[in-house]
Amino acid sequence: AAMREETIEKTKTVCTYCGVGCSFDVWTKDREILRVLPHEDSPANHISTCVKGKFAWDYVNSEERLQKPLVRKDGYFQEVEWDEALSVISNRFSEIKNQYGKDALAFISSSKCTNEESYLMQKLSRQVIGTHNVDNCSRYCQAPATQGLFRTVGYGGDSGSIEDLEKAEMVITIGTNTAEAHPVIASKIKRAHKLLGQKLYVFDIRKHEMAERADKFYKPNPGTDLVWLSAVTKYIIDQDWHNKAFISEWVNDFETYYESLEPFTLEYAENKTGISQAELKHIAKQITEVNTLSICWAMGVTQHRIGSDTSTAISNLLLVTGNYMRPGTGAYPLRGHNNVQGCSDMGSMPNTFPGYQDVSDDEIRHKFEKAWNVSLDSERGLDNHEMIDSIHEGKLHSLYIKGEDTGVVDANINYVRAAFEKIDFLVVQDLFLSKTAEFADVVLPASPSLEKDGTFTNTERRIQRINKALEPLGDSKPDWEIIQLIAQSLGVDWDYKHPSEIWFEAQELMPLVKGVTYDRLEGFDSLQWPMNDDGSDTPLLYTERFNFPDGKAKLYPLEFNIESKQTEEMSLHVNNGRVLEHFHEGNMTYQVPGLKYKLPRNFCEISEELAKEHGIENGARVKITSKVGTTEVNVQVTDRVTGNYIYIPLNDQNEGAPNFITDSDVDKDTNTPAYKDNYAKLEVIS
Ligand code: SF4
Repeated sequence: AAMREETIEKTKTVCTYCGVGCSFDVWTKDREILRVLPHEDSPANHISTCVKGKFAWDYVNSEERLQKPLVRKDGYFQEVEWDEALSVISNRFSEIKNQYGKDALAFISSSKCTNEESYLMQKLSRQVIGTHNVDNCSRYCQAPATQGLFRTVGYGGDSGSIEDLEKAEMVITIGTNTAEAHPVIASKIKRAHKLLGQKLYVFDIRKHEMAERADKFYKPNPGTDLVWLSAVTKYIIDQDWHNKAFISEWVNDFETYYESLEPFTLEYAENKTGISQAELKHIAKQITEVNTLSICWAMGVTQHRIGSDTSTAISNLLLVTGNYMRPGTGAYPLRGHNNVQGCSDMGSMPNTFPGYQDVSDDEIRHKFEKAWNVSLDSERGLDNHEMIDSIHEGKLHSLYIKGEDTGVVDANINYVRAAFEKIDFLVVQDLFLSKTAEFADVVLPASPSLEKDGTFTNTERRIQRINKALEPLGDSKPDWEIIQLIAQSLGVDWDYKHPSEIWFEAQELMPLVKGVTYDRLEGFDSLQWPMNDDGSDTPLLYTERFNFPDGKAKLYPLEFNIESKQTEEMSLHVNNGRVLEHFHEGNMTYQVPGLKYKLPRNFCEISEELAKEHGIENGARVKITSKVGTTEVNVQVTDRVTGNYIYIPLNDQNEGAPNFITDSDVDKDTNTPAYKDNYAKLEVIS
């Protein structure tokens, strides 16, 4: 036994699935992953994890892993050596840049990758190619939440730590299936609710586990959260229940904002949302009776045509009731991917350099131009959504996608895949030959988190180290090394020996994380941005000021004037989301036999009423058709959904993939696809 113990390596890492950022030791022997053991010192999770963090690592050693670069020759992929793949890439990038200009190239970063890799991807785009055309998948999820918080309080991040949620007297969740999408956060809320008397109010269109547990579960009509939020806020002010002391000290624009609430009467809100006036009054009263309120939200809010406005309405309500600046209060947009927060923080965004420093600000731009010895445009680049349009318009000729299955996870994927058919040059870097990779000219084999060093930043702005437990499989390489090789093949003299050197360079340019060093992230140590001048970090945002020049927050007036997309023919509302067992597009979790066994194939939930109306039996196969496409799947008749609402998990790309039927509508302020705002019809096939 002693011998065996000696050959076991224990390496601290961070989960590569959701944004909770659970950390643990991974026990390995050679390439075998023996055990995942969380630690009392694990800051976000202590001794908990969910099934994915604990068991979903088989993808690392999957036989499907890419182990050699692939280059398309005469229509077919051929395995090649790195040198050849790199020379194809540098030649094509250079040709396209010479022929069409720098903005004919674009880059998509991955929020599964490390902060250092996100930094390098945007540096490749900006310094080496000279374009701001770089983005990441927060465009598909939480960009609207970030926008709502930028408008009102100034930082696009959770107001407190995950553990602060347990201190809230009341938690409201809106459009988040927390128990399945952020299991460890849900367990904290469940505990506080059960043992500490925390009030839990859940707003969603589907009765998931948190809805079952809630003190109150409300089901507003799809896409109308802004209305009940604004009506409740107005009612609170009308009743003189707002927090006048907090507002006068900390909040600007109260009068203009209050005037803008005029249309949001209780009657109007009842009409639009379906929540009765009595219940709206009850919600307002309940909110003002507690001392501390935290609001958590996710894709059910953001993936709408007014995702940013609804996120803003949440923050407005928190400001009017004084629910910022104390533990147990504030805004919690729950981040999806392990490093979606960090990927945006590090500047893989078309409008901001690392640290949310605006590309249009001359002083900031000059700082980066000087650091990178390059001259850059003052206008922002293309976001993910615009990149696809731009390919169709013949303006974008090359796309380099790292760790993102865009042809599955973007909305309206028939349109996206048609763009990939059209584009001159597509490079995809991933662990597997994803659907997107099938369209590529060059495919590069990357390494997963267990095979590299770096840092991730979780939903509570916590920066944590990941450490390499395994050597890269075959000829695969960590993403940072690949990006560096591409940059070098294009003639720049990058010479990073280790991710710590990339991080060091980045933090020098980013006041947000200045002073964070690898030394301070040893073991289970972590730091939460923003960093302060005295070197301390910030577990609770906004203790002394909001992030605006005068230190005061802003109330932001909103309107509600969108039309429902429901028609007589397309009358079923199609919702989509996660299941506990699988993650996102399923590329990693479907490589895990245990999870695949638990949930082998996708399904579509339909209500008992709908089943009856159409004579549909449980398990029947149906074809679901929207105005842009069709998908087929077997149904599950359930009371989790009611009436005309159907629900399809998004994790299976072969069976019932919902993005064949989501259309190209987007949030008007961020271009985030309105994935949760689609209507369809359904017919039974067998
Ligand atoms: Fe924690 Fe999320 Fe990973 Fe589960 S998926 S272990 S909750 S980080």
